[in-house]
Amino acid sequence: MSAVAETPNSVNPWRQRAAQLRIESRAFIDGRYVAAASGATFDCVSPIDGRVLAKVASCEAPDVDAAVASARRAFEQGKWSRAAPAARKKVLQKLGELMLAHKDELALLETLDMGKPIGDSLAVDVPGSARCIHWYGEAIDKVYDEIAPTGHDVLGMITREPCGVVGAVVPWNFPLLMAAWKLGPALAAGNSVVLKPSEKSPLTAIRLAQLAAEAGLPEGVLNVLPGFGHTAGQALALHMDVDVVAFTGSTRTGKRMLEFSAQSNMKRVWLECGGKSPNIVLADTRDIERAATAAAWGIFFNQGEVCTAGSRLLVQESIKDRVLEKVVEVGRTLQPGDPLDPATKLGAIVDTIQMGTVLKYIDAGRSEGASLVLGGTQTRRESGGYYVEPTVFDGVSPRMQIAREEIFGPVLSTLTFKDVDEAIRIANDTIYGLGAAVWTRDITTAHRVARALRSGSVWVNCYDNGDMTVPFGGYKQSGIGRDKSLHALDKYTELKTTWIDLS
Ligand code: NAD
Repeated sequence: MSAVAETPNSVNPWRQRAAQLRIESRAFIDGRYVAAASGATFDCVSPIDGRVLAKVASCEAPDVDAAVASARRAFEQGKWSRAAPAARKKVLQKLGELMLAHKDELALLETLDMGKPIGDSLAVDVPGSARCIHWYGEAIDKVYDEIAPTGHDVLGMITREPCGVVGAVVPWNFPLLMAAWKLGPALAAGNSVVLKPSEKSPLTAIRLAQLAAEAGLPEGVLNVLPGFGHTAGQALALHMDVDVVAFTGSTRTGKRMLEFSAQSNMKRVWLECGGKSPNIVLADTRDIERAATAAAWGIFFNQGEVCTAGSRLLVQESIKDRVLEKVVEVGRTLQPGDPLDPATKLGAIVDTIQMGTVLKYIDAGRSEGASLVLGGTQTRRESGGYYVEPTVFDGVSPRMQIAREEIFGPVLSTLTFKDVDEAIRIANDTIYGLGAAVWTRDITTAHRVARALRSGSVWVNCYDNGDMTVPFGGYKQSGIGRDKSLHALDKYTELKTTWIDLS
């Protein structure tokens, strides 16, 4: 248990602030905070200690109808959808600034709600989200349309138009960041958005709505509906007046989104789903310690609740012991602590359900015959929260459940291979294709492996790096479409051809 958890609130400024925090827990529809039409609420529980943080509006179909109607009105009215890109840029830049001005508050909400270390919320989630909003604001007045290379007596114009009403449905692992990855390009392109955060972590999205209004986003352009997937999420995905669903979450729910589109209005569906990412370490890697340290962080960062978590460590047989020794050494230093302690590197698992899932997979690994070399149990029980030790399995075979299914927790499966071809075969033997890495000093091998990996992102001699300039998304059942970079604008714009006869 971390020292700070035992110290009185007066010693930890974040605990003091948490005690004073005023939490907004209503939906944001048509420019104002409102209770759910039914008056229903759900308990928003902090995984840090199991305490109820707030009673949050539990939105359902009537709230979805109201939010979509407001979003449609705003879109038709045109204050935002037909504003000059430079005007939209101004508002998005202001929103990015406001997010940074409220960095501490947003970080605290994120940590209380989702359990990640406050240091990560401050260094990664909030600045990364603000950066995304800034980036799309900055970009949008530099994107040009096209003129087709036609004959002289024709003008063929290819223009991009906003799609209309976007339903954004996001998960709980990076609540603000995943919302920003949708909002940045969708708003920059001129759409109206109805955002449904996860019921496990709705607080930063709710707060963001007010900041967006302060930044000058017109009423109805951003609505935020907290609620459950099978109620608010489903009603949004089935809605006849929603043009696009931009989803991040599990592959299982992603498939439902496709069904909902087919059952309703054939809305565009963009999916950012799960992963079981391979991290391949070849014997010729220049720096084994560095590769092993990155492998440990690649699985344990954010408690392993990362879609691109390097959950399958594939190591060439001859160096397996050396790599694993270092991974375990680093893992030992990453014991879960109080998420409100700035020194904590590993926080709480988002809720008891997810903790149960993680522990169930650890049991499956044991019973399938993998050998547990680190962790494996729940910890910090006295806190009242949900914590799992960093866990490492050795001797995992490609058929085991822990080698095939996304665990979404701090559990690493180590597999070995003899040569590069076998590594590629094992790496690609998955329904997923989100991230993958290869560590080698040979440039030809690096390129050959990178080309062979069926994955939306491949990292060479690093893990899970990147910035806003590159697209992010999955091959296979990891998704459809890409977040980040200018490519994300494709999701939120329709291409229009205007063919003008000049003869
Ligand atoms: P989830 O699929 O359970 O939920 C995601 C969102 O969908 C939530 O808002 C939820 O309320 C909603 N939802 C659930 N059921 C629904 C339904 N029937 N109809 C409509 N909406 C519904 O996923 P999760 O547990 O919140 O998130 C973890 C998953 O997200 C992991 O699989 C992870 O890999 C994935 N993820 C992917 C990326 C990416 O960019 N590819 C990023 C982060 C997380």
